[in-house]
Amino acid sequence: MRVLMVALISLILASCGNKSADTDTDIKPDTQKTYSWKLVTTWPKNYPGLGSAPENFAKKIAAMSGGRIKIKVFGAGQLVPAFEVFDAVSQGTAQVGHGAAYYWTGKAKAAGFFTSVPFGLNAQEMNGWLHYGGGLELWRELYSPFNLIPFAGGSTGVQMAGWFNREINSMEDIKGLKMRIPGLGGDVITRAGGVSVTMPGGELYTSMQTGVIDATEWVGPYNDLAFGFHQVAKYYYYPGWHEPGPILEFIVNKEAYASLPSDLQAIVESAARAVNQDMLDEYTARNNSALVELVETHGVDVRKLPDDVLTELRRLSAEVLDELGQDSEISGRIAQSVMEFKKQAMEYHAISEEAYYKVR
Ligand code: CA
Repeated sequence: MRVLMVALISLILASCGNKSADTDTDIKPDTQKTYSWKLVTTWPKNYPGLGSAPENFAKKIAAMSGGRIKIKVFGAGQLVPAFEVFDAVSQGTAQVGHGAAYYWTGKAKAAGFFTSVPFGLNAQEMNGWLHYGGGLELWRELYSPFNLIPFAGGSTGVQMAGWFNREINSMEDIKGLKMRIPGLGGDVITRAGGVSVTMPGGELYTSMQTGVIDATEWVGPYNDLAFGFHQVAKYYYYPGWHEPGPILEFIVNKEAYASLPSDLQAIVESAARAVNQDMLDEYTARNNSALVELVETHGVDVRKLPDDVLTELRRLSAEVLDELGQDSEISGRIAQSVMEFKKQAMEYHAISEEAYYKVR
């Protein structure tokens, strides 16, 4: 009986082997075929840090694919305006986009979860949640109706609270404050009595200079120095409670991705993953010297937000998250997933990362 079984299994395996050999021509990629893709971004062309991610992505893919995928990168406004990136890729005007999910909360409210949750995950935890904690699957489910496949596309690490032309000594100072702060952080500022504004990076300097806004968050020392915010703002506040570990995104048009043979799909995925980590490495190295330059060369007044202000912002953030979680069925699942991950990460990080920071 056992001999018969073994023989039968061998026969099945052999027939499978033959079958895959027969269809080998279907699986084997056409290495002659090339793909020309357009990539649109929400950043100015060749902008340091954030803007280097799409350029690196295009270069890596060209190198890894031996030129079979060529990606031309368009900065904000070159092919489409910054805030039309999502639609452009969704409709196939461009095959790839680079930006941040929280710019698209008008399309899908829960998109805010995938850039940053105020008082939520740091960069390390965010990458862990997305790639090993179920986050990416939820993100893909959320974007699926829009014909888009999201990939993590760069992480900045914890940001600064932002540049202010008004001192923040109490919650009273947030009332009426006009601040550029997108996503869930913006919802918290609105709830605190401020006026949150969403505008692309390229408009911030002038808006601060002319007093259209009183404050803006952007990224951290390295990117903020490049934008010259120290020339138009009085105070540089920390910590970035609203964006403790924000993640950027590559969005790929579903049909464009499906049209690629599997080896090229693997290259696109690996390039996104490499660029995502590379950005964190770059910021980790460059923020330090940029902070020194901001303080020592430009005399920037660096201040910590008062503890009671942070406590109140944390309370308001919990309210905002709670409401967003009740907005739709998928919002509820995302909120639950990210908050459970945060709880566990905090317990372990209390005796690892946090404990180590205190003793080194
Ligand atoms: Ca930011």
